[in-house]
Amino acid sequence: MLGDEAQGTVRSRCRSRPGRAYQTVGTGPGRRSASTVRGMSSRAVVWDAALLGYDLGGDHPFNPVRLELTIRLATELGVLDGVDLLVPSAAGDEELLRVHVPEYLAAVREAPEVGWDVGHGLGTTDNPVFNGMHEASALVVGSTLLAARKIADGAARRAVNIAGGLHHAMRDHAAGFCIYNDCAIAISWLLDHGFDRIAYVDTDVHHGDGVQAAFYDDPRVLTMSLHQHPFTLWPGTGYAAETGRDGTAVNIPLPPGTRDPGWLRAFQAVVPSLLEQFRPQLLVTQCGVDSHEEDPLADLSLSVDGHRAIYCTLRDLAERYADGRWLAVGGGGYQLIRVVPRSWTHLLATVLDRDVPPETPLPPNWTTTVGRAAPAARIPRAMTDEKDTTFKHWGDAADEPVDIAIRDTRRAVFPLHGLDPDDPRD
Ligand SMILES: [Zn+2]
Repeated sequence: MLGDEAQGTVRSRCRSRPGRAYQTVGTGPGRRSASTVRGMSSRAVVWDAALLGYDLGGDHPFNPVRLELTIRLATELGVLDGVDLLVPSAAGDEELLRVHVPEYLAAVREAPEVGWDVGHGLGTTDNPVFNGMHEASALVVGSTLLAARKIADGAARRAVNIAGGLHHAMRDHAAGFCIYNDCAIAISWLLDHGFDRIAYVDTDVHHGDGVQAAFYDDPRVLTMSLHQHPFTLWPGTGYAAETGRDGTAVNIPLPPGTRDPGWLRAFQAVVPSLLEQFRPQLLVTQCGVDSHEEDPLADLSLSVDGHRAIYCTLRDLAERYADGRWLAVGGGGYQLIRVVPRSWTHLLATVLDRDVPPETPLPPNWTTTVGRAAPAARIPRAMTDEKDTTFKHWGDAADEPVDIAIRDTRRAVFPLHGLDPDDPRD
């Protein structure tokens, strides 16, 4: 359904530039800013080192070093040259209460003093209590809200916040490393500031349950999640039969081991058609990278090249169906050195239209720094896993493992959107 290609084999639509085409863009004396040179004012990147304060401590897999290594890599590659990083401030209670209840906010605030027995999903192995938990979590929300505000006030068409994407947090409890649900709060805020048709696409390996729950009965928000099958992975939700009101919850549960071509085949068979029907004013995407084959917490088998292809596709879809408006946030991702920095550097580059060619070598400054900090780590050499992301459109004669999921999802929701689930042209 997406792209100029008819049915058949589809290659990534990422742009490839030889070398570092943006190398000459800078902000030194006498030089024009990047925003002038490349029209970058319509792109917003939110980042501040204070976001590293969302630290669940010890050997918890959700380690903020992944964000630090990403920003460092993107900087070394020149992706952020001339970009004015937007510094967030913490969200206030008024915003947090859009999604969460007062008792939960009070519990998060008090948790560091109260100790382990605070309830609300806090003080568990997944969601340990840490000092400054409320403040750090509110800052994550504030960072995604800042990105949303830039789009709402017209200052940016696209905005990205790699520190966001805490999609599991629920109304009254923490879940899956997530304290406050920045995605849901930002969408709620946008609904009160000029938007009434928002599409949310969640590419994390885990079901985007918290965002789905927040808008399950709200026809203004189309939530779509591709994830490892709930039989095989926490949180155990995200079946195709979970369709929300009028089909505005869409779930594509994928078999463990699904690789780039299968994932992209499933995405292409479901998401573009629904976006075309729904006609969103804005595309919000949670871009978790725990779908990578080396991720320690799950069992999909995507590559950095697959992630890059996903981001290029999301950008295309935003341009095609959402008037170019795209709010991208991070999410899961627990291969801290080999995966997250490269994949999210591709995300930042894609949002900024500074696509990094896959064969780009990793900068020596980055690899040296990482090598000193983690001598045992196998450090990748380039911005690629050397995987081919070419895939075949669903509807061909092939019978791929993901086709059961595709059929289940299409049959569950396509009729609710006036589409024929069995017709590959829809
Ligand atoms: Zn995840």
